[in-house]
Amino acid sequence: MPDLEVDAEARVVQPFSYRGSSATIVFGNGARRQIGDQLDALGCRRALVLSTPAQKQDAERLVAELRDRVTGTFAGAAMHTPVDVTEAAIEIVETSNADCVIALGGGSTTGLGKAIAYRTDLPQICVPTTYAGSEVTPILGQTEAGLKTTLRDDRVLPEVVIYDPELTIGLPVAMSVTSGLNAMAHAVEALYAEDRNPISSLMAIEGLRAFKTALPAVVADSGNIEARSDALYGAWLCGTVLGAVGMALHHKLCHSLGGSFNTPHAETHAILLPHTAGYNAAASHEPLKSVAELFGDSAGRALFDFAASLGAPTSLRVLGLTEASLDAAAEIAVSNPYDNPRPFDQKSIRDLLQHAWAGQRPEH
Ligand code: NAD
Repeated sequence: MPDLEVDAEARVVQPFSYRGSSATIVFGNGARRQIGDQLDALGCRRALVLSTPAQKQDAERLVAELRDRVTGTFAGAAMHTPVDVTEAAIEIVETSNADCVIALGGGSTTGLGKAIAYRTDLPQICVPTTYAGSEVTPILGQTEAGLKTTLRDDRVLPEVVIYDPELTIGLPVAMSVTSGLNAMAHAVEALYAEDRNPISSLMAIEGLRAFKTALPAVVADSGNIEARSDALYGAWLCGTVLGAVGMALHHKLCHSLGGSFNTPHAETHAILLPHTAGYNAAASHEPLKSVAELFGDSAGRALFDFAASLGAPTSLRVLGLTEASLDAAAEIAVSNPYDNPRPFDQKSIRDLLQHAWAGQRPEH
């Protein structure tokens, strides 16, 4: 493939293609108070507020604030967007005659909003409370009968995203860290994506910079609103590049482990990121040079040290994955071909998984 980067020395922009998102982004402390205006702008008068069971009270508070603009709540969102949950939510959409959905929560709630929009074409306002980044991607992963499938469709991209850092203050520190590392993985893979472009690379680097500052500050003081704001800004940037360019080995490996061994989403990303980055950095330093420059060592080693310094889990073993399952995991991970800057086979993936399972610091 051609080198798509701007050549810093010669300032020559290489050919690229770029498609921006049509979503409206509203960012800032207290931004949730603009949901009503955004409903009006969409021409919606009967919103259904979605949440997980854990965030039901937050959803009800929002209903009270929005008064006659909402029809009620559906607080059944669950990890990996189970189709039966979506069907139950659509029943409520129909009986309440809702004309849009408001997804208040992390990637699980965002996923439910997207799944409803995919089937009904209803507009969505998304109010993210984690750093997963799903709210700005046209990607939807769903599970049915234990099988996870992923689709990409413009219908699932939320029309409006309201980023209010004050809503993330309650996200526990451990979840903040793994969620932030999950977002950083989108940016790292965007840097070496085959279809990367100057805008996606700028956003990816800025997203990584934001998290590099924000996550240690959140660990030191979970109520630090400036750090929460920086982290949510990073989430927007990293999520945007996830939606804009293709992902590679890292996301495919996480998908395989989550789908076949039910490992938790954000933690799996957090643990594997240094290993996948290190694996790719060993073959091609150029696209990941900015990670090394930002974090002060080669990409894999630096990301490992960063995650460890934040108290993130660093071994797949702690997620309950057995060593005996690594052979099958490697086999599943190579069963479908996909782009990656460095070629791989079952043995190289098995070795990578072994290191990640044992929690070893990557070489590169
Ligand atoms: P999550 O949405 O499952 O949230 C985890 C738990 O934290 C939930 O109980 C939730 O209610 C709670 N929570 C969320 N925000 C909180 C807050 N501010 N305070 C207190 N509790 C809070 O976790 P996640 O990691 O954000 O999302 C994971 C899901 O998102 C997975 O299903 C993953 O596949 C999906 N995802 C999709 C995309 C995409 O582009 N399609 C991108 C990233 C993640």
